[in-house]
Amino acid sequence: MKHISVVGAGTMGNGIAHVFAQKGFSVSLVDTNALQLDTALKTIAANLDRQIAKGLLTEEEKKSTLAAITTHTDMAAGVGTAELVIEAATENTDLKLKIFRQLDELAPAGCILASNTSSISITKIAAATRRPQSVIGLHFMNPVPVMKLVEIINGYATDAAITRQLTALCGQIGKIPCVVNDYPGFVANRILMPMINEAIFTLFEGVAGVQEIDTVMKLGMAHPMGPLQLADFIGLDTCHSILKVLHDGFGNPKYAPCPLLTNMVTAGYLGVKSGEGFYKYTPGSKDLVVSSRFNS
Ligand code: NAD
Repeated sequence: MKHISVVGAGTMGNGIAHVFAQKGFSVSLVDTNALQLDTALKTIAANLDRQIAKGLLTEEEKKSTLAAITTHTDMAAGVGTAELVIEAATENTDLKLKIFRQLDELAPAGCILASNTSSISITKIAAATRRPQSVIGLHFMNPVPVMKLVEIINGYATDAAITRQLTALCGQIGKIPCVVNDYPGFVANRILMPMINEAIFTLFEGVAGVQEIDTVMKLGMAHPMGPLQLADFIGLDTCHSILKVLHDGFGNPKYAPCPLLTNMVTAGYLGVKSGEGFYKYTPGSKDLVVSSRFNS
């Protein structure tokens, strides 16, 4: 495999493009929003600089990585020659079904169609195409250049040969794959999201403040980041969508999103990507600036 396409150039799409380009693949990055494509290239350049500062990369490698990425707002141009498409668009079922119908029309016949969805059924996405055996979940973790795990999700119809091929591909890009089956939230988010939701309920019910909740989980459980800050990094809209998938998929009220999370998403407080969630961030950066409205 030499040429991959990434559809969606947000938080995850730019990270996925970065990693594949750095490992010598030619990458077409597609987004309907041209501004987002510019932002993605800037983010990738800044993250490559961070790798250079840590002595993990040379200036030459940065140049060749950036040169390997082309950007497209037109889906046909972006996926027409791809051997693998990784969809990393907004976590919304109808949108993903629409994109996969489009990909099925526009990507070459032998092209594998993967989704980076956090929770939406791969079987359902696959059923929107005429090639369900070639549709698979490829769930990268955030931040993609740093995190080792890729959760590979077998849809009901996924061909075992495709799973083996992508397992090998993960090794090629320096990641560690873990193959799981297709049920709501898969493994990662089935366990992570109820924890994040419970942290939000703990805040909502006044048991403790943002800093206290995150400190307990960081120092008490040796988590590198507290659940509320992690939610800000993931994106509160994404967390909310995943909880809705768990809630609908299992029909169990224990997965219902906390009303505070729903309110924050409705008001546009989405975490790092909007500049404020449970914490405030410097615009365009992940650096905390001041405590948010939740902290006195
Ligand atoms: P994001 O909101 O940062 O980016 C989504 C991008 O998709 C935006 O740039 C948007 O313009 C683009 N988009 C929307 N419709 C499109 C279309 N029709 N064609 C092309 N691009 C389109 O979202 P994200 O956090 O990068 O999440 C992307 C996917 O990755 C979601 O399925 C999410 O569940 C999953 N995911 C997210 C994380 C995380 O920590 N954020 C982790 C693992 C997986």
